[in-house]
Amino acid sequence: MRKFSTSSITIALLLAVASLCGCQSAPKAEWALAIHGGAGVISHDRPESERVAYRESLTAALETGREILDDGGTSLDAVEAVIRLMEENPLFNAGKGAVFTNAETCELDASIMNGADLNCGAVSGITTVRSPITLARRVMENSRHVFLIGSGAEQFAREQGLTFVDNTYFQTERRREALKRAKAREANNAAMLPNDAYGTVGAVALDRHGNLAAATSTGGMTNKRFGRVGDSPIVGAGTFADNTTCAVSCTGTGELFIRHGVARDVAARMQYAGASLRTAADQVIHDVLSPGDGGLIAVGSDGAIVFSFNSQGMFRGAADSNGRFDVGIWEAMNRP
Ligand code: ASP
Repeated sequence: MRKFSTSSITIALLLAVASLCGCQSAPKAEWALAIHGGAGVISHDRPESERVAYRESLTAALETGREILDDGGTSLDAVEAVIRLMEENPLFNAGKGAVFTNAETCELDASIMNGADLNCGAVSGITTVRSPITLARRVMENSRHVFLIGSGAEQFAREQGLTFVDNTYFQTERRREALKRAKAREANNAAMLPNDAYGTVGAVALDRHGNLAAATSTGGMTNKRFGRVGDSPIVGAGTFADNTTCAVSCTGTGELFIRHGVARDVAARMQYAGASLRTAADQVIHDVLSPGDGGLIAVGSDGAIVFSFNSQGMFRGAADSNGRFDVGIWEAMNRP
């Protein structure tokens, strides 16, 4: 008769107890998607209709990505489609609805990264290309470079046949008012209001083929000097994806995210220190950065989704192949 060791009997008993308690870990997701609409928040005293509008917009973006990933599409296609939709939505600080520079123009930044081969593309100082994230993807796939800026990037967009708009297409009254407030506060040496500061969009995804991708698009920060570049188009700072660890997209005060190489730091803690995605993200957001700096979304190669932020709130959403589908602004969502 086969003999069982005491330790194997103990493990079997522990597994049986865990299963009876329902405390076994969730099945690994075949695909997973997380999105953000910026670390800034709408204040609690704004009308309910605004909150509803944000929730509906996040839900629509999440649905777009879910459809692609559920059908077996790639994580790159999913994150690009999600960001394109959010760029068209004036509620978010990317594409239409981008914040104003101090020169009263919109200058857009975006980046995208493929976790399968570490290929990436980024653009900055875009003023007339309708979808900066699509331009970033074209840089990644159709050029021998990683990062194009200003008129050189726009010339490349022309060669790629992308859609152009006048800079006024991106400009909205709401953001113009935010610029006025920011300039008035600057004149009084007062800090910028959190509502006026952020609103970048980002998406990270794992597809059914086991590939990760990350993408981020932004107008930057209200009243930024024209020519200023934030973290969003900087691979390793605002965006990073590597199939061996995770995909990350950040939002917050870009200068701080650049200084600390935040997105890459999360992946590095997993790679070199064996940290879990949750631990790595929380260490960077809460121990390296300071309260109010911003947050990030991340998805691991195992499909785990993590949100971590030290701001008052972060517009965000998550979906996966296990049926998860939820959006949040301030409050904790069903799962962390
Ligand atoms: N990180 C962006 C920037 O500094 C701003 C944001 O996330 O809202 O350009």
